[in-house]
Formats: sequence, C-alpha cells, structure tokens
Amino acid sequence: MAQDYYKTLGVDRNASDQEISKAYRKLAKKYHPDLNHEPGAEEKYKEVNEAYEVLHDKQKRAQYDQFGSAGVNGQGGFGGAGQGAYGGQGFGGFSDFGDIFNDFFGGASQQRQVDPTAPQRGQDLDYTLTIDFMDAIKGKKTQVSYTRSETCETCGGNGCEKGTHPITCDKCHGTGYMTVTQQSLLGMIRRQTVCDKCQGRGVIIEHPCNTCHGKGTVDKTNTIEVDIPAGIDNGQQLRYEGQGEAGKNGGPYGDLYISYRIKPSKEFERRGNTIYTTIPISFAQATLGDEIKVKTVHGDVDLKIPAGTQPNKKFTIKGEGVPYLRGNGNGDQITTVEVKIPKHVNEKQKEALVDFVKASGESITPQGKGFFERLKDKLNGD
Ligand SMILES: [Zn+2]
Ligand SMILES: [Zn+2]
Repeated sequence: MAQDYYKTLGVDRNASDQEISKAYRKLAKKYHPDLNHEPGAEEKYKEVNEAYEVLHDKQKRAQYDQFGSAGVNGQGGFGGAGQGAYGGQGFGGFSDFGDIFNDFFGGASQQRQVDPTAPQRGQDLDYTLTIDFMDAIKGKKTQVSYTRSETCETCGGNGCEKGTHPITCDKCHGTGYMTVTQQSLLGMIRRQTVCDKCQGRGVIIEHPCNTCHGKGTVDKTNTIEVDIPAGIDNGQQLRYEGQGEAGKNGGPYGDLYISYRIKPSKEFERRGNTIYTTIPISFAQATLGDEIKVKTVHGDVDLKIPAGTQPNKKFTIKGEGVPYLRGNGNGDQITTVEVKIPKHVNEKQKEALVDFVKASGESITPQGKGFFERLKDKLNGD
C-alpha cells in the first residue's frame, strides 16, 4: 500500500517547510541504518526519505496534494504514464516522477525524445564464425559474408528521387511526435505519441527514391576480409569497425562483432594457451627410459622419458602450446604418459617375464591354465 507522506513524517497537512525538515531530521536520525539495527528500521528509514523527497519540494508537494499517491505510483488509469512509477527503492526515479506530471499538464516531456532528423549511428551486428582447431592456433585469412543495410547509393540516404528533397512534416513540425488529448478521471490529459503522418521520421518524402522506396537504405550482402589472429579462443569476440548497419540521416555505420567458435581436435585438448595430450608408452619404456616423438600443434618434438617413469606422469613441453594473442610467444604443452600393460603376450615374452619375476625375487601366482603349470615348473625346476 502507498504510504501517506504526511503520516510518515508525523506532520500536519498544513505543515510549514521548517516543520517538515525538522520532523524529517528527527526521524532520519532515529531510523538511520548505521544507528538503528532493529528489524524494520531500514524500511522505515526509506519511507521517511521518500516522504521527505516529495514534501520538501514545493512542486512535488503540490502535485502530491492534488493527486495523492495514486498519481505518484502511476495507478488509476493514467494511461501512458505508468512507465515512470517508482517503487520506493532509492530516489533515482524522481525524474520519471516529474515526467508523469509533465504528461498530465502537457508539459515539456520532449527532453526525452531524440530529434528524428538528427544523424544516428547504425546498429551493431553479431556474427558467429566457426573455424577449425588448427586455424585458431595458426591464424588464417578468410572472408565473411552477411546481409546488412547499406546507405542507398541512388539517393545518398535521404530516400528522395533525384532533384527532390524531404520536407519537414507539417503535423509534428519535424519532431516526429504529436500531442493527443484524452479524457481521464482527472479531466483532460495530454500525452505524446508517434506522429501518424510521418511515422516519427519528422519529414515527408513526396517523391520516394525508386531504389530504396524512400527508406534511404537497401539490404545488401557485405563481404569482408577477416584476418583471424593466431591464438583466438572459443567464445572470444572481435570488433570490425563500420561493418554493421547503415546509420540514419547521414550517421555512421555500426560495427560488426564476430564471435569465434572453435571446433574441437581429436588429438589436442586446449585450455586457454595450454595444450594437453596423452601418449602411450610401454612398461619397458617407462622402466628403462627412452626418447620418443611427441606431437604438438607446431609439429613433432623429442621427449626424454627418464628410467623409472611412473604411470600418468606429466611432462611440460615449454613453448609448444597456443600463441598468445598479443604476440608474446606460446603457452606450453602438457603431455601425460599412459603406461600400457600388454593385453596379450607371446610365449617368449612370458618366459622373459618369468625370468624378470625370478630376478626380482618375487613370488607370483599367475592366472590362466597351462601357463601356471609351466611357470611352476620353471620356478621350481632347473
Ligand atoms: Zn534511395
Ligand atoms: Zn510528423
């Protein structure tokens, strides 16, 4: 429910400015959130401030006296003005409050409107470009085509046939808006709507251009060269100035924003500028060490596997990751070794393993018929 501002401040409807200020200071101090931590104090503090904002201002107070809180809250069928309602949080809404009453009184709410004949910048456009994984690493020159509005070349954008000019709309005098008077509960109110003669353009085109039919712009396919920078990442967006839609009344073009989407790779996983890979090595390579070739986005590199390498050990290969966009070298590659345990071994391998077990001084109980027997023989025999 809307509050009664006089009641909130505890003053008479005929209270003087001094009485209102005095009541406000007393209550503001009492309910100030820094001083009063009781539940509801903050709410009360807001109400007190809201009431004071209205009552200490001569004009707002007069409006409030006349229309009550219904007018303040935009209720009661005051069509068209409802947008300015404020809900008691903060007081930033008071310019809207003023506008509501300006609408009632047919006042100067034109300050919100833009001159429809002034140059306006064109709209920005969004485009999503999907590229291959390696193109994002290496960079690539490509072309992008899309439809946008462009300034009509026949008329130069004013929408008129050659030799003619737009004329200022006589109904709205070039403002693009007109005032209509409506009957309301409060009596006659005046509000502004888009001019129905010029549709808000502020001008009338008597002889429209044949190419654009008076619009001033035509839809065209625009093709631009795009130089994809090496290192671009998924979701990054780049701005291409002036490649958006045509402006109005000679205003500049908007911009094109290209969002990059990068296809995944089967071999490489990318996180930022780091590349992650896994490489399988044998039990023997892990145990004895080896030098192996590892794939990177920049080609194969040699990697030393030290003797005694444990499963899932990660090796950092410096500078073999994704280039930094600002051109300061590359990130790293992190390669994890996966030690493969053979699924099948031949007779010779089996025997070698049995020898290995013997040499380790271990006692094992291998599974699988036949092999077990022979192993037992071997361990107990010769
Ligand atoms: Zn034209
Ligand atoms: Zn008009």
